[in-house]
Amino acid sequence: MGNSVISMRGLCKSYKKQEVLHNLSLTVERGHICGLIGPNGAGKTTIMKILAGFFFPTKGELELFGSRDNLDVSRARMSFMIEQPIIAGPMTARQNLEYIRCLRGYPDEKRIDEILDIVGLANTGKKRASKFSLGMKQRLGIGMALLPKPEIMVLDEPVNGLDPEGIVEVRQLIKRMQEEWGVTVLISSHLLSELSELCTDFSIISHGNLIENLSREELLVRCRNHIALRTDDINKTAAVLEDRLSIHDYKVIHGEEIQIFERLGEILHISKTLTDSGLVITKLNEEGQNLEDYYLEKAGGRHE
Ligand code: ADP
Repeated sequence: MGNSVISMRGLCKSYKKQEVLHNLSLTVERGHICGLIGPNGAGKTTIMKILAGFFFPTKGELELFGSRDNLDVSRARMSFMIEQPIIAGPMTARQNLEYIRCLRGYPDEKRIDEILDIVGLANTGKKRASKFSLGMKQRLGIGMALLPKPEIMVLDEPVNGLDPEGIVEVRQLIKRMQEEWGVTVLISSHLLSELSELCTDFSIISHGNLIENLSREELLVRCRNHIALRTDDINKTAAVLEDRLSIHDYKVIHGEEIQIFERLGEILHISKTLTDSGLVITKLNEEGQNLEDYYLEKAGGRHE
């Protein structure tokens, strides 16, 4: 049985008369890192704003921690960083954290030093946040969100605009949140490749529609280079692959196609062995896409 902490069903949202989310359903399981992936304008921020209670959906249901009631109480168990982290530029990292500690009513003052260490800002002393690099600001924003020990973090494009080093730091921080403190994360990006190694699940959205939900394993299988094979007898084909060709790294898809992930350079030899065994081959070719191509095909291109 699933253990979903966020569940959206049939969500619609219109701004004035324009509908920007269409009957969108999405669940996030406890302890997972769910990547909300879609081109600019797809509706990612709108979804997150509905979660945060900035506004209501036009239609549909929202459940947090398994309940549709008392969403404001549930939201107190969550932290949000939507669009930009809200940081006071003239204040130091410590002062920003102290401000959030008071605002969220978190009693333990020692938590501030802990967070400064976690986000790698312990040595910033009297430096004002306005003088921080973009990566430092993002880490401070995440630290502020993490301070009250939320069970769920909702992060809108937290690596957008960061240099490669900044992206790695933020990704490591998010991974740590999940692995060490069991925080469930919903994180958005317009680039699948930025999150492909981080997320356990992906929801691809485009033009306010959910295009596909898939786990990391499913994504990797789909994007992995393989030989796609169809014959007149799939069971016999699998037996020939195992017994005559010693091929074991393959997958049968819906009982009608086999994807072979090893010996990709031996397509002719595989073909001859199958034919010699009396099989009729109806499809045999090498397939596979890189992550970004896969996503662009699904999401129908990027809108800038
Ligand atoms: P994303 O976060 O994926 O870039 P958004 O949720 O920001 O997408 O936007 C989805 C759509 O809603 C876009 O077409 C955007 O122009 C529109 N939109 C977002 N906010 C507003 C608003 N406050 N008023 C009118 N339209 C909006």
